[in-house]
Amino acid sequence: MIIIGAGFAGLYTVEGLNRADVRITIIDHNLYSTFQPLLYQVATGGLNPGDVAYPVGGCAGRHLARYIRGDLATIDTTGRRIKLEDGREFEYDYLVLAVGVSAAYFGIKGAAENTFALYTRRDAIILRDHIMAGFERLSATDNNEEFAVTVVGGGATGVELAGTLAELRGTMLRATFPNVDPSRVHVRLVEMAPELLMPYHPKLRAYTRRQLVKRGVDVRLSTRILAVEPGKVVLGDGETHRSDLTVWAAGVAAAQVVGAWNLPQGHNGRILVEPDHRVKGNDRIFAIGDIALCESNPTPQLAQPAIQEGKHAAAQIRRLLNGAETQPFRYHDKGIMATIGRRAAVVQLARPPIWMTGTLAWLVWLGLHLIYLLGGRNRVSTMLNLTYRYLFWGHGGGVIVGDEPMSAVPPDAPSDGVR
Ligand SMILES: Cc1cc2nc3c(=O)[nH]c(=O)nc-3n(C[C@H](O)[C@H](O)[C@H](O)COP(=O)(O)OP(=O)(O)OC[C@H]3O[C@@H](n4cnc5c(N)ncnc54)[C@H](O)[C@@H]3O)c2cc1C
Repeated sequence: MIIIGAGFAGLYTVEGLNRADVRITIIDHNLYSTFQPLLYQVATGGLNPGDVAYPVGGCAGRHLARYIRGDLATIDTTGRRIKLEDGREFEYDYLVLAVGVSAAYFGIKGAAENTFALYTRRDAIILRDHIMAGFERLSATDNNEEFAVTVVGGGATGVELAGTLAELRGTMLRATFPNVDPSRVHVRLVEMAPELLMPYHPKLRAYTRRQLVKRGVDVRLSTRILAVEPGKVVLGDGETHRSDLTVWAAGVAAAQVVGAWNLPQGHNGRILVEPDHRVKGNDRIFAIGDIALCESNPTPQLAQPAIQEGKHAAAQIRRLLNGAETQPFRYHDKGIMATIGRRAAVVQLARPPIWMTGTLAWLVWLGLHLIYLLGGRNRVSTMLNLTYRYLFWGHGGGVIVGDEPMSAVPPDAPSDGVR
């Protein structure tokens, strides 16, 4: 059987099939699995890229699975074969699609060309180098030149990034470039909805907004982005703002290649599945994680549903191998959380329904992220780096930066493996 994609969903499928009487191959276009929830820490220099990446081969090997690096190009559902972009072909008895999603620009003029995404480890490194280059540029000029950053999208990623950038300005900038007046750095967060973090309780949304404003983020709610141009953003009310760096955290959709797989697709290109997570009309193909959409029982595009669907797919394949019927997927909602900055986070547990804010929420956020990171080395290095960041940020050290922004490298260049 073949699993495509080594994110949360794919890796938990492999784990769930440990010692099953089946030969497992997992295919991913990267050598490593990425822990996306901490990418913004890489982008802001708090973590090393290697802290959020874990080698797929090692994980596969532990569960007696084989790892192949490659990109899924086409699926022959009748002949039960897949073809990779490099032309290699493989047969499958069961196929699990766990390919995740990527940034969606919803046709907004200039958004794809002029914004930075934060979806892969490579995106985070490119963004980090541009952020640091922006700060360095200020230190090299004595005039009143500014560095304006716009984060588009007031979901968890946008809030976390804007909050951390504001803290960078207030602490690291002062320590590393003492000649730069922090007021020359502007951080703006633009959200089309009337509030930030829409899935959260209104009290948590209000807390989040207050904390961001307190940290000096220019929060624009009920504001559309009409266009993104080099060096500026055009807002729905016609206002144009300087934006040296615009980050797109406003939405996701299936990658274009999914359209070539001849599978039923729903909203934002997600693959339509039955309640047991087999793809509609395809008994031997499962779709799980962010890419899957069960219209009668939709789950949010978050790590927990991906993990639980990975375990579920493994259990269903075991049942099918034993001649049993499949069962519908049931999502156990554990809650949601987002961090705003040092000692400020929001946690909304589902059962019992408890909300937390402030230092306690921040510690819960930190602990849970460490638990779900893959690999002991990553946990230790992440804990050390985050501890250093939040305890000694004002000393200026501990930030790992590149020197030249990587934008000269074509975006489709092969990624560089795990560090
Ligand atoms: C910046 C950011 C922050 C986030 N923060 C949180 C958070 O705090 N909490 C939370 O719960 N969720 C968070 N999420 C969402 C969470 O990370 C996703 O819901 C989760 O990763 C989905 O898991 P997945 O396995 O479906 O896909 P992914 O983790 O995206 O994995 C997909 C894998 O498929 C591979 N792949 C893709 N296409 C192909 C192909 N054609 N061939 C071969 N391989 C392919 C990719 O390389 C990747 O390894 C965040 C996401 C982002 C981007």
